[in-house]
Amino acid sequence: MKMPESMEECFYFTNRTLEEGKGNVIAWVRRPKCSKCGKGIMGKPVDPKTGKVKKKADIYVCSECGYEVAVDELNPTLNVEIQYTCPFCGNSGETTTEYIRKKYKGVDAYVFTCQKCGEKIGITKKMKATKD
Ligand SMILES: [Zn+2]
Ligand SMILES: [Zn+2]
Repeated sequence: MKMPESMEECFYFTNRTLEEGKGNVIAWVRRPKCSKCGKGIMGKPVDPKTGKVKKKADIYVCSECGYEVAVDELNPTLNVEIQYTCPFCGNSGETTTEYIRKKYKGVDAYVFTCQKCGEKIGITKKMKATKD
C-alpha cells in the first residue's frame, strides 16, 4: 500500500492517535479517475468566481471532461486505505474499509477490523486537529 504523496490526491486524509490513547492510524481515500474519459480526476466543483472548491457540493466533477457524478453515488464505490497500529493488541497492519461512516461508540466513524485480534477500530469524525 502506497501512501498518497499529497492531500491533493485525496478526498480524505487523517493521521492520528486513536481515542483509546494508544495505537494510531493513517487513513486516506484517493480521488478516483473519471469513469467516462479515464484521464481526469474526480473532485468537488470549483467556484469560477472565487476559485475555491465548493466543499459542500453534492457532486464530483471530472477535471478533464466535466463529467458529473453524485457524491452519494461515488462514495460507496471508494475505499478508505488504512495503515494502523492496533490499540488492543499492538499489531501493525494495512487494511481497507468502506468510505461510509458508521456508528462507533455512538459517534460517526469509518470502522475497520484489526486483522490480528479482530477488534473493531473506529476513525471517528469528532477528533480535534484533523482535516475532516
Ligand atoms: Zn472525465
Ligand atoms: Zn488488534
